[in-house]
Amino acid sequence: MSSTSERNSDRPRILTGDTPTGQLHLGHWVGSVRRRVELQHTHDCYFILANLHAFTTRADAPAAIRRDTLEIVRDYLAMGIDPAKATVFLQSEVPAISELTFLFAMLLPFNRVMRNPTLKDEIKVKNLGENYSFGFPLYAVGQTADILAFRPVGVPVGEDQVPHLELTREVARRFNQMYCAVGDTIEDDDHVREGGVFPIPRAEVGAVGRLVGTDGVQKMSKSLGNAIFITDSAKEIRKKVSKIYTGRQSPTEPGDVTNALFQYVDAFIDDPARVAELKDRYSRGDNLGDGHVKVEVAEAIDRLIAPMRERRKEFEGDDGRILEILRDGCARANATAERTLALAKEACGLGFFPRSLTIG
Ligand code: ATP
Ligand code: MG
Repeated sequence: MSSTSERNSDRPRILTGDTPTGQLHLGHWVGSVRRRVELQHTHDCYFILANLHAFTTRADAPAAIRRDTLEIVRDYLAMGIDPAKATVFLQSEVPAISELTFLFAMLLPFNRVMRNPTLKDEIKVKNLGENYSFGFPLYAVGQTADILAFRPVGVPVGEDQVPHLELTREVARRFNQMYCAVGDTIEDDDHVREGGVFPIPRAEVGAVGRLVGTDGVQKMSKSLGNAIFITDSAKEIRKKVSKIYTGRQSPTEPGDVTNALFQYVDAFIDDPARVAELKDRYSRGDNLGDGHVKVEVAEAIDRLIAPMRERRKEFEGDDGRILEILRDGCARANATAERTLALAKEACGLGFFPRSLTIG
């Protein structure tokens, strides 16, 4: 356990993660997870399961949150995340995050949090109306703490997370300026050198920053019923892909190669020559039907997912193994987050007594 963190500790650190509101889908793969699988060889990687934040929209479904948390770990393993290289942990078992959330909540004007476009969008598309909990917008502040507790240099995420990252950067700057005497003209990259506790982390948006869902409109999202999951069978994939709406009437009608279907062509068909050919014929209306393109897209997705489905089988049914991975990850995550919290508390005059924390 400690050997992994020691081996990684001189590498640049990244943090990212997922909320257990369902299982992982293709959007996660192209937006963030594919990059994580690469970075675990070169970076000190922390992957958070934001299970407390899942309560913002599902407080009445704790059993489902617990189930999804464990299922996402299985998805990680299936997608190629290696717990011997990366630290996979539970937000709920790292108390430093909650403590930092409280401190950071003082550094952000309430109106600033509510102006976050991703938050506004979620309130709309998830039909939260006006009766969302006080905790719902608090998650945006909490996410700044999820990130900063690990003092990462980068956060690999999809496009929708960029506003959250902007908020995180603001919190980090403000903290460093208010409590660490970092001047307000200091460049972001120089904050730590100037004595700041927090680096100003960058968002690293994946190759496809926003994969559209099979509804052809909203972002593919686990809570919107428009997702292709990595556990879907070839048949389910074909069925879902066949529903992607383009509005095109006939194979001889010149088609729009920026439509939802062609976003899938770009994201999942590997051969650039074939992609170019499909685009050429589709845009000219050269007898290329949507149905044909959909079959090719579904096959390409199945080729990507099939090995993940296969690998996932190794981890099905055995919660003990998953819990061991999390136990190990939580211990490592606490070691890092407690160090950050101690520095932050020291900086703002709360450094009274040392403490230690163990995961049983
Ligand atoms: P929810 O519906 O609960 O918000 P989600 O599907 O949006 O779930 P998150 O857990 O919020 O998933 O996001 C996890 C990570 O995956 C984030 O970095 C997010 O930007 C990325 N991501 C999610 N959906 C997509 C998508 N459709 N395209 C690209 N990246 C995505
Ligand atoms: Mg989301």
